[in-house]
Amino acid sequence: MTEKSYITVTIPGVEVAQEVQTGTRAIDVLANVLSNKKKKQAILAKIDGELKDIGTPLEKDCTVEAVFPEDENLDILRHTTAHVMAQAVKELFPGVKIAIGPAIDNGFYYDFDYERGFTPEDLEKIEARMKEIVKQALPISRREMPIAEALDFFKQQGEVYKAELISDLQAQGEEMVSLYQQGDFVDLCRGPHLPDTGKLKAFKLTHLAGAYWKGDENQPMLQRIYGTAFYDKKALKKYFAMLEEAKKRDHRRVGKDLDLFSVQEETGPGLILWHPKGAMIRKVIEDFWRDEHIRRGYDLLFTPHIARLDLWKTSGHLDFYAENMYAPMQIDEVQYQLKPMNCPFHIAIYNSKKRSYRDLPLRWCELGTVYRYEMTGTLHGLMRVRGFTQDDAHIFCRPDQLDEEINEILDMTLFVLRVFGFDRYDIYLSTRPEKSVGSDEHWELATGALRNALEQQGLDYEIDPGEGVFYGPKIDIKIRDSLDRSWQCSTIQVDFNLPERFNVTFTGQDSQPHAPIMVHRALLGSLERFFGVLIEHYAGAFPTWLAPVQAIVLTVADRHNDWAQEVTARLKAAGIRTETDLRNEKLGKKIREAQLQKIPYMLVIGDQEMENRTVNPRTRKGVQLDAMPVENFINMALEECREQMAG
Ligand SMILES: [Zn+2]
Ligand SMILES: [Zn+2]
Repeated sequence: MTEKSYITVTIPGVEVAQEVQTGTRAIDVLANVLSNKKKKQAILAKIDGELKDIGTPLEKDCTVEAVFPEDENLDILRHTTAHVMAQAVKELFPGVKIAIGPAIDNGFYYDFDYERGFTPEDLEKIEARMKEIVKQALPISRREMPIAEALDFFKQQGEVYKAELISDLQAQGEEMVSLYQQGDFVDLCRGPHLPDTGKLKAFKLTHLAGAYWKGDENQPMLQRIYGTAFYDKKALKKYFAMLEEAKKRDHRRVGKDLDLFSVQEETGPGLILWHPKGAMIRKVIEDFWRDEHIRRGYDLLFTPHIARLDLWKTSGHLDFYAENMYAPMQIDEVQYQLKPMNCPFHIAIYNSKKRSYRDLPLRWCELGTVYRYEMTGTLHGLMRVRGFTQDDAHIFCRPDQLDEEINEILDMTLFVLRVFGFDRYDIYLSTRPEKSVGSDEHWELATGALRNALEQQGLDYEIDPGEGVFYGPKIDIKIRDSLDRSWQCSTIQVDFNLPERFNVTFTGQDSQPHAPIMVHRALLGSLERFFGVLIEHYAGAFPTWLAPVQAIVLTVADRHNDWAQEVTARLKAAGIRTETDLRNEKLGKKIREAQLQKIPYMLVIGDQEMENRTVNPRTRKGVQLDAMPVENFINMALEECREQMAG
């Protein structure tokens, strides 16, 4: 085999292609076009679009770009930090065995097997040692090794977990593995990594936990050390400030303080009890949701919580969704199943009579409560539960109506999210996976409709190639909350599968039966989870239209009770959710308590208000408004709600 000794390297933005010797490192080519400062800042190379080590030898004609620290490659920084942590642990605790150390959301971890439990003091020591390793700016180098040799290498060091991972790779037919080394520390790793340990500027070890090797409870229990890393100290500080704030806003804590909901061992984990104030917020959400659907041409449906098991056989849920479903129950010799989804019921209503092309589109919505099994360990307040109410809808339309329908769904989604205070999103369009049902023509039509709608609304989105569900493409919308955390809520999914399984048809202009296109759609996801997100987004200080109590009337003394009660009655009659505090307590105390309850308006009634028949509103933020007639306050509060509900 003759090797070409020179290759052509294209650098985007640089006109002249670089002719370099085969095997020249990416960084050395980039050095020709980068300033010294920029060269030092570069951490990775994008070679033909793929992220690689900046020291990667270039073996063929290619395009190379320098990559600088940014949020998109935080994972690589964090994974490199995990390597440095493992190195520090091995140096400090001879005999420790290392397992795996990936980057995760918000940080990284590494699993260790050691003769005694690590302590918080150990974490401090480890962190100090990591800082020394960073100071040394040790180059991080990659090498490839035949798999048998790598196996010996780790076995000799007593690294049994690494040896097991390599054996697994061997069993999969791999012949070579890559190792990364800094100083004396060598790890099995695919990479890429930062060029040297000196690039770590800001990291912190956060906590310890136990974790089974390979997540299997029959395997040894290892010790997991968690940490996080950022490219600069400011970002690290900001992250911890956000965590602090998130703790204060934790929906379980706020939910308890404001008496909104509970989950009780006695009634069952993952099952939500909505207390009066939480239930009031839910009522407001549901009213708004239903009204908006009716306004936009939807019909409401209600369907049962159980159905014959056969229904779930036809729908296919028993085949591909069984692990999320509860055991069937026997009623009069027939098996019934608690519903994990609403779709088959809506289809049953569709199929209850013949539909013509003129009847379409049909837009049907339901706040449908479903039950899905989740492992106990994953349950979390309102965010991960076993029974929840989906804000579900199904649209049945003709292929020629799909574009308009999707566009309308997307428009409605963004409007509803905006009303709830969310106007920043990450949007993903997932396309056809390898295994799928439906014709090419349908997939193209549906994917095109989703894309057109996103573009018509002028939205930025990312494509997740092949990440669609087997039955059709979808759009997922993750909303950003006030702490910039992202939550998956809305989803729009086209489905070619269920209509076929249930033989759903409409009679076309040609008098022949045709399959309609079915779209599943949720705006909020589930009421429970969305409520949790809302609580944390607003830290319990709901906007006036959503607040369970919108105003509280506070008296200074008993002689003000009559006027206070009259004010309350008039507010209530106008539809303002109002409470009265007539207790014989100091006004300051009453105000403080109302503030803790995050009630938007406090109306203090004293001698002057009584005499002038006015109210004296004070906002929960402590802003004192001028005294005004009751009517004026009512108009002001109602107008505020109207504005908030207009998005
Ligand atoms: Zn690695
Ligand atoms: Zn559905």
